[in-house]
Amino acid sequence: MTTRHAVVSGASIAGLSAAFWLRRTGWEVTVLERATAFRDGGQNVDVRGVGREVLARMGLTDAVKAQNTTETGTVFVDASGEVRVELPSDGATAELEILRGDLAGTILRQLPEGVEIGYGDPIAAVREEADAVTVTTSAGRVLRADLLVVAEGVRSATRDLLFEGQVDRRALGITMVFGTIPRTTGDDSRWRWYTTVGGRQVHLRPDHHGTTRAILACTEAEDPTRLDRAEALTRLRDRFSGVGWEAPRILDGFDGSDDVYFDHLTQIRMPVWHRGRVCLAGDAAWCVTPMGGGGASLALVSGYVLAACLSGTGSGSPTPGLTAYENWMRPLVDDVQGLPRWIKPFAFPRTRFGLTLRSAADKALMTPALAPLMARFTRVAETDRALPSITATGTATGTAR
Ligand SMILES: Cc1cc2nc3c(=O)[nH]c(=O)nc-3n(C[C@H](O)[C@H](O)[C@H](O)COP(=O)(O)OP(=O)(O)OC[C@H]3O[C@@H](n4cnc5c(N)ncnc54)[C@H](O)[C@@H]3O)c2cc1C
Repeated sequence: MTTRHAVVSGASIAGLSAAFWLRRTGWEVTVLERATAFRDGGQNVDVRGVGREVLARMGLTDAVKAQNTTETGTVFVDASGEVRVELPSDGATAELEILRGDLAGTILRQLPEGVEIGYGDPIAAVREEADAVTVTTSAGRVLRADLLVVAEGVRSATRDLLFEGQVDRRALGITMVFGTIPRTTGDDSRWRWYTTVGGRQVHLRPDHHGTTRAILACTEAEDPTRLDRAEALTRLRDRFSGVGWEAPRILDGFDGSDDVYFDHLTQIRMPVWHRGRVCLAGDAAWCVTPMGGGGASLALVSGYVLAACLSGTGSGSPTPGLTAYENWMRPLVDDVQGLPRWIKPFAFPRTRFGLTLRSAADKALMTPALAPLMARFTRVAETDRALPSITATGTATGTAR
């Protein structure tokens, strides 16, 4: 059988998982990443549900555990930092907590030999034909392939180019700003989560690098990713003025941090995730946002499921394999994209009265009677279905070229 060639665009969790598994199943793989080097950074993500099984099949569970963020649990605190409510174990804090950059870096280091990664040279044009897809990069490199996997994240340019008119972007009206700040002696091993009026939340989480991971989240109509960093940080400071607790420290920390990530939460919904020899994976296909949860787990799983579904299709049309991939992934995505209407006002109360109701509800949710409802929010990438089986060729694990 002739070796099939896949081009994967995007070298984060979804793209690297796809590269890992396609190479393992005998494909020649070229990864194209827009950034000029591997993108480290990013804050806490967790591996849940069937993501744990995929990680185990990659042989990476111990490596991920070794980089655990050391978070021991999650508590809701009040304006003075006193704990109001303690969440159940394996609730918001999962068993496998890791920083985004550490997870992506772990997959990168364990890619099977022979995966080529090209940095700083993204796709400029795509030509689709029945028997091949031809990619031209911005530097003029031409790659003729059997498959193009677009794993460029929520704001994917190649997806927008190829699936114009089919991308339903649903802005949730929530901004989240993630960043790394110096650790202080008052920081402990728990995720401390403070909610206050005006639709604002403040979070502090430990990591295993001796720093602290902070999040400021708020309801916001305008997309801060369209602004330059200085302007976005100034607006953030205005929005969080008078919030109290650790907000001033976090704002000062963000000013001095080179690792601040702005997100204006936007779900991506599409009627179809593949066409001909092109398919989408991870946030590019179905961004679920942190409100849905499980984006990293779904990205990880998608690479495995894609390769597994294509492993039985030979060198003919990939359509049956891509259809099977989509059919397998879609229920997992639907499960977390359908957010109840009340979730946003519940998570981001605007008034004192709303905050009082929320505080009462938090306590009620911890009672045994309502615990199943609480568990629902952290159940992502869960399924009774077995993962599709994969035909491994035994390609050795080693360093990527
Ligand atoms: C640097 C960074 C920091 C992040 N920090 C957080 C965080 O703190 N909290 C959080 O909840 N989520 C964060 N995320 C998002 C999170 O990683 C994803 O929601 C999730 O893991 C799904 O991963 P993904 O691989 O589908 O997409 P992403 O992780 O978004 O990765 C997409 C990759 O594609 C690359 N790319 C984009 N456009 C192109 C292009 N045209 N051509 C080639 N490559 C392209 C990007 O540089 C990136 O490497 C971050 C993502 C990145 C890239």
